[in-house]
Order: sequence, then C-alpha cells, then structure tokens
Amino acid sequence: MLFDTHTHLNFKAFENNFDQVIKDSLKAGIRYINIVGTDIDSSKKAVEIAEKYVDTFASVGIHPHHIFNYLTSNVILSETKNLGPSSPKGPALQDDLQELEKLLKNPKVIAVGETGMDRHIYKKTRYKRYGISDKLINLQKKAFIAQIKLALKYQKSLIIHNRDAVNELLEVLTSHLGGVTKLRAVFHCCEPDQKLLDFAIKNKIYIGIDGDVTYDKKKQEFIKKIPLDLLVLETDSPFLTPEGLKNPNIPSNLNYIAEYIAEKLKIDIKKLKEVTLKNSKKLFKL
Ligand SMILES: [Zn+2]
Ligand SMILES: [Zn+2]
Repeated sequence: MLFDTHTHLNFKAFENNFDQVIKDSLKAGIRYINIVGTDIDSSKKAVEIAEKYVDTFASVGIHPHHIFNYLTSNVILSETKNLGPSSPKGPALQDDLQELEKLLKNPKVIAVGETGMDRHIYKKTRYKRYGISDKLINLQKKAFIAQIKLALKYQKSLIIHNRDAVNELLEVLTSHLGGVTKLRAVFHCCEPDQKLLDFAIKNKIYIGIDGDVTYDKKKQEFIKKIPLDLLVLETDSPFLTPEGLKNPNIPSNLNYIAEYIAEKLKIDIKKLKEVTLKNSKKLFKL
C-alpha cells in the first residue's frame, strides 16, 4: 500500500478521466492520494474531487509561479494611486487568500499548498510577459508567509514548493521558524541541495521524491542521504513521468518509483512501502 502525497489530478490533463485514474490507482495499491491546488480554481477542483472518494484528499494553495497574476493589482495599484479606468486590474492577493481560508474549513483538506518560492523561467506558462523581478519575489514571500500563517491557524500541514530559489525559501522559513516548527511540512519534489536537506533534518521537514529520480543523476545520489523517517513519495502527476513510462504520469506509477528507490537504497521494497506510508500519514496527521 502506498500514499501518493502530491498529484494534480485536478489539472486539465485529467479533466475527462480522473475518475478512472483514481480507480486504477486504488487497484494498483495506491490507497491514499493527495490532490494539490496551485491557484483558487484548481484548489476548488481538488476539494471537489477529494469529496468523492474515501482516501483521496485535497491541499489548497497558491503556487509561487501564479503569484505573477497579482503583480498588477497588488504592486502597481498600491504604489500608483490614480491609474485611471483603463488600467489592467487582476485579482487581489488578499481576496484570494480569503477564498483559500474558506476552503480550509473543509475536512477533506489536509494541507495548505503548494506554496513557496520559485525563480524558474517556465517555457510553458499562461502569462504572456512572465519574468522574475524583485517585485515578484517580494510578493511570493508575502504570499508564502500568509499561507504559513493559514496552515497554523487551521492546523493543516504545509506543502512547500521550491525551484531555483533555495536562499529565499530558507530565508522565509528561518524568519518564521517558530511557526514552521509547529507545523508538519514537506519539501515537495525536493531539489538535491545539501542546505535544504540540513534544514529538513534539523526541523523535521519531510522530503518528497518523484519519478525524475529515475533519470536525474543528482537525485539518485541525493536519496541516499535522506533519513528514511523523512522520506515520502509522490508522482506530481501529470508531470515528471519516470523514465521509460508513457505520458501523462499517473499515481499508479508510484509503484515503479518505489521499486526504483528501494533498489537504489538496497532496502526491501516491503519495508520502503511501509515506512513511506507511515511517514505520509504522520505528515498529514491521518
Ligand atoms: Zn511544485
Ligand atoms: Zn505540484
């Protein structure tokens, strides 16, 4: 039995078949699934799907990449008072955080996230002029801190996303360490970075490993350093399909990932499944 701690079955890729995908996963022994939101709409969808199945859960949050959406309304509007009626006006971060808060009251919601820091320039993005600016990074920090506070307020776990932004991520976590250590948290799809690992070990933060471990040499070395009691598994479906399997990635591929890791770590597959399931339940207080 396994727990897929991070999927996006709420995304367009599964629009027409999430029901079948979940049934297939259950048959393949993936008993527990966490569906993770990245903005308000996908968070709502995650809750909607989770409510249909016993051991399928939802996490709600605003991904740092989507913080770009708020730049106009939050940064420009607050700095320039008279923009006039023709100015572009996106959603306000504050309003969406209130929407998130409403979703957090649902018992199927086990975590806030994904939230965190992201300096990556994505090739595929819904934003026309996407770029990393100081303003974006500052707003990402603000949104991240607000979501840490929401997790504390509602006693939910925290799903932390980081891409190419280890320094900023650790800066925020360190400055809010009092709160963070009260939470159960995971570095989802953890970058193979010693600083992240040291921080995780010191503060008992779980580490999520995905199918990219099958082709990423750095991750293959990295997993050997992770204490077994902090390891959790995830597919990040529909992304990060393990090498040799067909797209889109699906939760049942977690078996393949588990077998790959067990072989690399030279531990019994049964033991790896047991330990990671136990860790995942602890992470989400289930
Ligand atoms: Zn992520
Ligand atoms: Zn994700």
